[in-house]
Amino acid sequence: MAFDCDLFVIGGGSGGVRAARMAAATGARVQLAEESRMGGTCVIRGCVPKKLMVYASSFRELPGQARAYGWDIPDGNFDWPAFRTTLHTELDRLEGVYRKLLTGSGITIHDSRARLVDPHEVELADGRRISAKHILIATGGRPERPDVPGAAAGMVSDDIFNMDRLPASILIVGGGFIACEMAGILQGLGVKVTQFYRGAQILRGFDDEARGMVAEAMKAQGIDLRLGSNVAAIGPRGGFGAGMAAPVSEQAVAPAVGEGPFSVQSTTGTVCDVEAVLFATGRRPNTAGLGLEELGVKLGRRGEVVVDAYSQTAVPSVYAIGDVTNRVNLTPVAIREGMAFSRTVFEGVPTPVDHDLIPSAVFTQPELGTVGLTEEAAREAEPIEVYATSFRPMRTAFAGTQDRVLMKLIVSQATRRVLGCHIVAPEAGEMIQLAGIAVKMGATKEQFDQVCAVHPTMAEELVTMRNPVRKG
Ligand code: NDP
Repeated sequence: MAFDCDLFVIGGGSGGVRAARMAAATGARVQLAEESRMGGTCVIRGCVPKKLMVYASSFRELPGQARAYGWDIPDGNFDWPAFRTTLHTELDRLEGVYRKLLTGSGITIHDSRARLVDPHEVELADGRRISAKHILIATGGRPERPDVPGAAAGMVSDDIFNMDRLPASILIVGGGFIACEMAGILQGLGVKVTQFYRGAQILRGFDDEARGMVAEAMKAQGIDLRLGSNVAAIGPRGGFGAGMAAPVSEQAVAPAVGEGPFSVQSTTGTVCDVEAVLFATGRRPNTAGLGLEELGVKLGRRGEVVVDAYSQTAVPSVYAIGDVTNRVNLTPVAIREGMAFSRTVFEGVPTPVDHDLIPSAVFTQPELGTVGLTEEAAREAEPIEVYATSFRPMRTAFAGTQDRVLMKLIVSQATRRVLGCHIVAPEAGEMIQLAGIAVKMGATKEQFDQVCAVHPTMAEELVTMRNPVRKG
């Protein structure tokens, strides 16, 4: 049977675009549909604008530090509208780059929603149907609000980059990547941040010592971090008196999205008055309305597309990559999944995706960089040695601030391999990228030690820690 194209990709995010370009480079005829902006979550409403906001907020500390170094620099004010304009100009530019990359590769773009109507056919929003030998689902995920009265009034991460003005105060709900990163960013930009996390410590799944250190740094930054606290209800300011029970009717407490001021009732019974609420309570795979289950594509408990090691679904002509599969929800992983898909299907080299030892960073202030096992997980698996050091970094210690950094290695007693590396420090994301190479190669502690220190740096501690702080 003759198909209209060899590959139809649904979703123009990092994973979909990379897979489309790789496939096109093999000579395949490729088409791609994106209903929103090209570039997807990472470029338009995630990693990229977030990192630019991290940079924007980090300047707050600089005048004070500069003065300690002898500069005559006054504190300044942050101009959100000016920054937002430049930010969106940059995002427009990047979107243009993504489009050019696609069209330059000979890929046909449809600015439209698409859904599957057959294992080999998609339908666009205008009713046009396009047949394809292979279909790739790369539709990503979207933020999710918890089911509490008034939740619709809270913002999600997508909304942050479009705010007309910065609120004077905000309640951030959640203790994961987005909640902690946004807390640091907004506090740095001058917003009074309160953060509710329902558990005992933020950043569940990361190394306990590193999580504790980030939490302490966030509190020192001025963030009012309330652990063991969750939102019970959101209402207009003064909606609940202190100690009043949460109203049961959604109607009674449902202001429009982002339109504060709000009173927020917590599960611990307190009432918190804020101008805005941000839910950073997780993301859900974008599979609704794609026609997947009707065709026999299996979905998991959270609605994710279930795939094998080659990203193939239960329907042989349909593949899925990236956050929509809810494997490891990180941009570089989606990109690698897209490349492995193209190699498997269009180059004839079956390539499973390697999800082992993926380095990552949380862009809190300071950052948390991590690769491999946490101390807790490693100890469950085998006897270990822990090498760790915490110290005041030279740059800010000179300016008299009390911030500390952490360098930590988890080492197998049996094989001497470094099983995990955890860094809490400014630029920890940059450091862990490099440490990740050694850990992925299976380097031992002794091989780390054979490397000469770069002095004076923070990262030199990774090769100069002589004695374990804990064994067992
Ligand atoms: P996460 O899964 O990291 O965190 C969600 C947080 O919300 C957790 O603290 C969770 O608590 C809490 N939560 C979930 N449901 C509720 C609820 N009903 N009420 C209150 N709290 C709730 O999701 P994020 O939204 O922060 O990020 C989504 C994904 O995006 C991440 O998994 C990550 O892969 C990716 N990302 C990566 C970044 C990076 O690499 N720097 C940056 C931003 C995002 P609990 O722990 O108790 O479950």
